[in-house]
Amino acid sequence: MADGIVVIGSGISAAGACYHFRNNGKTARVYDKNSFPWGHTATHAYEPGFLFDEGPHVSFTDDQRIQEIFAESVGGEYDSTPYVLNNYWKGFWPVHPVQNHLKGLPPELVTKIISEIARQEDDEPEINNYADWLVASYGETFSKTFPMVYTEKYHTTQAENLTTDWIGPRMHRPNLEEVILGAISDNPPNIHYIKEFRYPKKGGFQAYLPAFFEGFNLSLNSEIVNIDTSRRVVTFRDGREESYKALISSIPVPSLIPLLNDVPAEVIEATAKLAWSGCVLVNIGVNRADVTNAHISYVYDEDIVFSRLSFPHNISKSCAPAGCSSIQAEIYFSEKYRPLECAPEDYIDVTIKDLIRCGLLKESDDIPVREVVVCPYANVIFDHDWAPSIQLIHKYLDDVGIHYCGRYGDWDYLWTDQSFTSGENAAATLLDSLNS
Ligand SMILES: Cc1cc2nc3c(=O)[nH]c(=O)nc-3n(C[C@H](O)[C@H](O)[C@H](O)COP(=O)(O)OP(=O)(O)OC[C@H]3O[C@@H](n4cnc5c(N)ncnc54)[C@H](O)[C@@H]3O)c2cc1C
Repeated sequence: MADGIVVIGSGISAAGACYHFRNNGKTARVYDKNSFPWGHTATHAYEPGFLFDEGPHVSFTDDQRIQEIFAESVGGEYDSTPYVLNNYWKGFWPVHPVQNHLKGLPPELVTKIISEIARQEDDEPEINNYADWLVASYGETFSKTFPMVYTEKYHTTQAENLTTDWIGPRMHRPNLEEVILGAISDNPPNIHYIKEFRYPKKGGFQAYLPAFFEGFNLSLNSEIVNIDTSRRVVTFRDGREESYKALISSIPVPSLIPLLNDVPAEVIEATAKLAWSGCVLVNIGVNRADVTNAHISYVYDEDIVFSRLSFPHNISKSCAPAGCSSIQAEIYFSEKYRPLECAPEDYIDVTIKDLIRCGLLKESDDIPVREVVVCPYANVIFDHDWAPSIQLIHKYLDDVGIHYCGRYGDWDYLWTDQSFTSGENAAATLLDSLNS
C-alpha cells in the first residue's frame, strides 16, 4: 500500500490531504463509498446540458494561498463574478442582508425595526443562545420576522436551541446609521462578507478537484464498514481487508464512530447527541432565460417549503444550455429536530408550486429538468450539546490514532477552503506521527 497511508473520502478535505502528501513526497490510497468521486463537491449533470452542484458551491475565500491553489487546479480557467444575493419575504425581494436593505418593505414594519434598534442599550445583555444574540443585535421585530423564521427552516430548530459559536461573519450586525441608510437609499454600500466569487469556467464546482488526486490511487464503491484501530486494518463492505500505518477520515463523525470497535459508552452517548441537518435538493431546469439575476435567494415565509434558492445558470453560463435557467431549492431536515415528512421526490411538485407563488416560475413554463438529490449530511447544528460532545469524541479519536478532517470530520461549519486546509493539517499531523 502506498506509504501505508489511507484517506477515507474524496471530497475537498481529502484533496487538501493529498495536496500535502504530494508536496511532501508521499502518496496514499483514497477510498470513497460513492460510485462517483468528490464527495459534497460533486456536480450532477442532466440532459440537455444542465449542471447542478450538491448545494450552491462557489469559492469566496479571501485566503490568497488557497485562491492560488484552486486557480492552479483548473489551469487558471475560472471566472470571478460579483455575488448577487437577495431575499424573498411575502412578495417583497429585498437585497441581502435585509437589515441593511429595508427600503421598500411595509413602512410600519420598517419604523418598528428602526425604533427598536435605536432604543437598544449600549450595554450588551446576557447572551445564552442565538435567540438572545439576534434580539440584542436586531431587536425583537426584525428577529422574529426574518432570522428566527429562517433559523427554523434552515437549521430545523428554534434559535433558542442554538449557540452562537457558528456565527462568524455570516450575520452582519449593523449600526443604526447603516440601518437608516438602507431604509432610505436605493444603493447603500455593499457590506456583505462575500462580494465576489470564483467558479470554474467549465464542468461545475467539481472541476477544482481532480488535479489534487492525480497520481493517487482513488477507489470508488469502496465503503469502509469497520476500522480496527488496534490491528490497523480497514474492512470494506465486500469483506476485503487492508492494513494501514496511518489513516485520515473525512467520514461524518456520527457515521465514523459506529465503524470502530470497543468504543467507550460515553463516546457513544456523545455521538447520539450530535445534531446535523440533511438537505433535499430539488433541481429544476427551465426553458426560459430571464428567471432572475440573483445567484442566491433566502426565503423567509414559513409556508414556503424551501429555505434557500440558487441559480446555477447565473453562477456560470456553462451550467445551463443557452436560453435556459436553472433553479436549485434547498429543503432541510434533521433526525434530531425535524425528520423528513415525505419521500424526497414528493418535494418536486411542492417546490414548483412554491416557485410559481414567488413569481419565479410561470404556470406555462416548460421544465425539462425536475430532479431530486438527497444530502444526508449538510450542516452541523450548533445546539447546546455540540461543544461538549464533539470535544469528547475528538479526544477519543486522537487516543485511538484516527486523524480526521473536513466539515464532517472536524464537525464544524467549514467552507471548502477551510475543509481543504483541514485536510492539509490532518496530513501534516499524520506525517509527524509517522516520523516520531
Ligand atoms: C448546501 C451547502 C452549500 C455549500 N456551499 C458552499 C459554498 O458555496 N462555498 C464553500 O466554500 N463551501 C460550501 N459548502 C461547504 C462545503 O460543501 C464543505 O466544506 C465541503 O464540501 C466538505 O468537504 P469534506 O471533504 O469535508 O466532506 P465530503 O465532501 O462530504 O467528503 C466526505 C466523503 O467521505 C465519503 N464517505 C463517507 N463514509 C464513507 C465510508 N464509510 N467509506 C468510504 N467513504 C465514505 C463520502 O462519500 C464523501 O465523499 C456548502 C455546504 C452545503 C451543505
